[in-house]
Amino acid sequence: MTASLLGTYVWAIGLIAWFIIRYPYARKARRTATLRAVGWSRERILLAIATIGLFVVPLIWLVTGWPAALNYQLNYAAVVVGGALYVLSLWLFRRSHKDLGRQWSASLEIREAHQIVRAGVYRSIRHPMYASFWLWALAQAFLLPNAMAALGGLVAIAILFFTRIDYEERMLIEAFGDDYRAYMRETKRIIPGIY
Ligand code: SAH
Repeated sequence: MTASLLGTYVWAIGLIAWFIIRYPYARKARRTATLRAVGWSRERILLAIATIGLFVVPLIWLVTGWPAALNYQLNYAAVVVGGALYVLSLWLFRRSHKDLGRQWSASLEIREAHQIVRAGVYRSIRHPMYASFWLWALAQAFLLPNAMAALGGLVAIAILFFTRIDYEERMLIEAFGDDYRAYMRETKRIIPGIY
């Protein structure tokens, strides 16, 4: 099997694993009441952009072969690096879902009886789930042998992350005040000790 085909398979398996991990949490979340939703229409647009970059663009390339002019060959080293990033991403994705529990929502919301989570993977970074999205987009960049499909995820996650992050932290400060401010002083956003 060529490295390019293997990379594409690994990407597809990771994608399926991502949905399997999220499904039970998305189901449970429907049962938790929402007290407050922030920037509803902006959030719909951001989630649509993420879906396009991480799923739709690669799937179009996979199904139609377009844009073939941007195809290239992968080597096995890229597949190994991409696969390792994918495993790390899915691990962090699952852990952050577990640790965030009933406070999780796909868009920015304060849930009923919402509490700040500071334990587990939330101990040193405030946004482990977004860190897992960055790792996923990086993995995609290594695993797909087409420039548009490879980079679509990174562009989408950059837009989602940098647009949303200030609104999210502001919303949590409004909801939790000094408790969240103290948590911000003790932690970084997505890279422990750095950013
Ligand atoms: N930004 C976090 C969570 C993403 S899910 C991460 O990347 O891991 C988005 C929801 O999580 C938001 O609606 C917000 O209400 C909630 N949230 C974010 N950080 C939180 C925390 N430390 N404790 C509790 N809820 C949090």
